[in-house]
Amino acid sequence: MTERFKNLLNKIKVYQSIENVTLIEKAFVFAQKAHEGQKRINGKDFIVHPLGVAEILVSWHLDAGSIMAGLLHDVVEDGGVTLERLGKEFGKDITQLVNGVTKIGEIKLRGTDDDIFVENLRKMIVVMAHDLRVILVKLADRYHNLKTLYVLPLEKQKRIAKETLEVYAPLAERLGMGEIKGQLEDMAFPYAEPEKYKHLKKQTASYYKQASEDIKDFKREVLKNLVTKGIKAQVNGRQKHLYSLFKKLYRPKVNKDINKIYDLMALRIIVNTIEECYIALGLIHNLYKPVPSVGVRDFIAQPKPNGYQSIHTNVFARGRIIEIQIRTRKMHEEAENGIAAHWYYAQQKMKKVDNPQIKVGFFAPTEKMSWVNELVQWQKEIVGSKEFLDSLKFDALNHRIFVFSPKGDVYDLPADATPVDFAYAVHSDLGDQCAGAKVDGRMVGLDFKLKSGQVVEILTDKNKKKPSTDWLNFVMTQQARRKIAKHIHSS
Ligand code: MN
Repeated sequence: MTERFKNLLNKIKVYQSIENVTLIEKAFVFAQKAHEGQKRINGKDFIVHPLGVAEILVSWHLDAGSIMAGLLHDVVEDGGVTLERLGKEFGKDITQLVNGVTKIGEIKLRGTDDDIFVENLRKMIVVMAHDLRVILVKLADRYHNLKTLYVLPLEKQKRIAKETLEVYAPLAERLGMGEIKGQLEDMAFPYAEPEKYKHLKKQTASYYKQASEDIKDFKREVLKNLVTKGIKAQVNGRQKHLYSLFKKLYRPKVNKDINKIYDLMALRIIVNTIEECYIALGLIHNLYKPVPSVGVRDFIAQPKPNGYQSIHTNVFARGRIIEIQIRTRKMHEEAENGIAAHWYYAQQKMKKVDNPQIKVGFFAPTEKMSWVNELVQWQKEIVGSKEFLDSLKFDALNHRIFVFSPKGDVYDLPADATPVDFAYAVHSDLGDQCAGAKVDGRMVGLDFKLKSGQVVEILTDKNKKKPSTDWLNFVMTQQARRKIAKHIHSS
């Protein structure tokens, strides 16, 4: 057994049972044998790759099944092991996971025409909704491959980098894995856009150098003040991920002006309780003046649809604007690792009540994962693959806004969505009977472009049974478009 695997086992022992540790060891030995004599393109032993994938999965605190699947994920495709053999050694659960990861790997996400692309995404989603661990192992696989992307031919580098930016990073984001999304993007960016990457790196170098100096001072000041209030906190500085900055620079409102970006650097305050979050917020605003136009965004009271929670505020401090994010430790874990963290907390909870189900390890989407369920639902509803592609590309993977119902439910809509889109997102009857809308208590036209944070109230006319055809001129979601078009065809 390699030294590196021994180190990994020590980390696994902290949160896994002895039985599971033994199974993981068995999976490693099996993978080592299957890949014996194989080398990666960079000349290293092949086993370094599955081991690297397993290390990533352990750092996300994933379950024994995921770790085993990570170790075994290439034994069928590259190690010549049959699924039957795998089933005999490790059982149905693990075999299905490995098979799922292999199948996703075979899917060519950038097909030559739209139909192939759609079909592939469809397959991927089916696999994914069946057991989300498949996608987590695949994300770890991609993450590890990006680290050694430089050894591949230029064309392949570009394809993998683009696929990462267009499919895997948005998937990670949708699963609430913000930190992993940022890292995947930053690893792919130099390969996908080499010139723009070099330029941005050069443009921001001196800024980041100064910022990391300043952040040390802020950190000291903030910590000192928190301590006097009796709050134990961890304060970290964080730089905005480079690719995320790149995307923001190209938004029309920013128009490549780096001075318009206020979260280039942020200070993150991690405390123990929600109450302490608000105490810390008061303290921060006492120290530094908040920036009026940006305001406080309280994602604790109103979480984002992917479950993200934190308080964000932008303040003036020493001649610059910095963003401050306040959250509890649990929120922090969830913001970084998304569903992986949800799973971990659920597991810890079950451990306390000694639930035997924990051994089953089935990983179904939770209510926070409604996006995944929605995709599966759409897939059933939509017949034409062109339409499916459009709904995926333009609804699911593009820029989103978050608006609220009067009751405070959050709705996740594409940018420029209108009250009609909102109404159909709530319920198709509400859409059909929609006669007017109020946004933040003010009457607006039905073609009003909604913005994040607004409260939308739909006024209905019970006698109205049909949507208006001219709504098709301004609706943004495929859902609304489809429902409206249905009435036209049936009349
Ligand atoms: Mn692999």
